[in-house]
Amino acid sequence: MASSGGPILVQKFGGTSLSDSARLSNCADRVAQAVGAGHRVVVVVSAMGKTTDQLVELAHSLGSNPDPRAVDLLLATGELASTAMMTIALKNRGISAVPLGGREAGIRTDQSHGRARILDIESTRLHDLINEGCVPVVAGFQGVSPIGEVTTIGRGGSDTTAVALAAALGAGSSGGGCEIHTDVDGIHTADPRIIPKARRLSEIGSEEMLELAAVGAGVIQERAVIFARRFNVPLRVLHSQKPGPGTLVLRETSSMERNSVVGCALRRELGRVGISGLQRGHHGQAVIFSALADAGVMVDDIVQTDGDGGISLAFTVEHAALAEARDVVRAAIDRMAPGDDSIGVDVEIGLAKVSAVGSGMRSSIGVAGRMFQALSLAEIPILNITTSEIRISCLVPQDRGDAALAVVHEAFGLDRDPQDGPILGLADQEQE
Ligand code: ASP
Ligand code: MG
Repeated sequence: MASSGGPILVQKFGGTSLSDSARLSNCADRVAQAVGAGHRVVVVVSAMGKTTDQLVELAHSLGSNPDPRAVDLLLATGELASTAMMTIALKNRGISAVPLGGREAGIRTDQSHGRARILDIESTRLHDLINEGCVPVVAGFQGVSPIGEVTTIGRGGSDTTAVALAAALGAGSSGGGCEIHTDVDGIHTADPRIIPKARRLSEIGSEEMLELAAVGAGVIQERAVIFARRFNVPLRVLHSQKPGPGTLVLRETSSMERNSVVGCALRRELGRVGISGLQRGHHGQAVIFSALADAGVMVDDIVQTDGDGGISLAFTVEHAALAEARDVVRAAIDRMAPGDDSIGVDVEIGLAKVSAVGSGMRSSIGVAGRMFQALSLAEIPILNITTSEIRISCLVPQDRGDAALAVVHEAFGLDRDPQDGPILGLADQEQE
């Protein structure tokens, strides 16, 4: 077949969207539509359903610490199976599909098994295939190391495979881009399972998307968003089973600064470790947080206060990491100040973090005030506050988490389309 010269479109399908033959067939129909519309399509697939979880479990069923190379080889089979299945489905639709593993697709990574980084993509073969009118079906989540071994690139990594391919193939400059087909119809102003009034956003800035992902709204892998931003790949999140416009993830545009807040998110299952009585000038912070880093404990927000009893520190971690974090902190303090029982360590569980995100925050005044006031009117205690340039987060008791999300969603009028006019703020209401 001659080169069509149409826009290059990478279509990625997630595990839930491929969990059975009926769903997989729907996805194949989406590919057929794009091909029919004149796109040069590259398909990227995740493992079907919960396959990766099952393979991880299988690998550990023979004992702890399975060999990382062998684990990667095993996990990669999940995506290979999907690649084969999708190819069969596309061939049945008369499409010249060609199945490719990560290696065949030219995805070169470093040697870090289980969390390899994509170094580059040797895309000649892919280019040739698409220019011949074929549809390469690429196994996501995997690549090949410099010594030729199969690697995987971290959970959720197929999103990153897709965006990396789109970047390497110049999908954006060809007029195409990358579509992530998943089990939600786009990015919402809040998780619709908690806030039924949440609205699908027709577009969102990549920076906002990253902040939202970091505080709990996990629809696309963060690395994929970073890649899309860096290489200017237009990215769209769509429902794989229900046709619709989805959400376009863009670099910020001025039209997007209509609302100071575009979305909010809730992260549950957080705990807090508090340390009190550290002496000033003893560099306790360095000792404690280096020990946590060495132990691989992911620390979230850190707060320091300085009072009569010395320095106090508190940081949040996921529930799952709380016991280890406490033990690491205790051991570090014992090494730093042996026998000193004036330093206290305590833990708290059952916390949640509600966050509001929007790049318009940079240029608006009163966003934090509005959020705190709304929570206070609802009598939801704020246990801690952290901010970035475009995010405000409040730590709240977990049993008030859903309510806090609803209150914040309401306070910023997120259920209303910004096209419908400005939102009446709490402050405005009070002045009336
Ligand atoms: N199958 C892999 C996972 O479950 C990669 C992906 O789905 O993106 O993490
Ligand atoms: Mg995923």
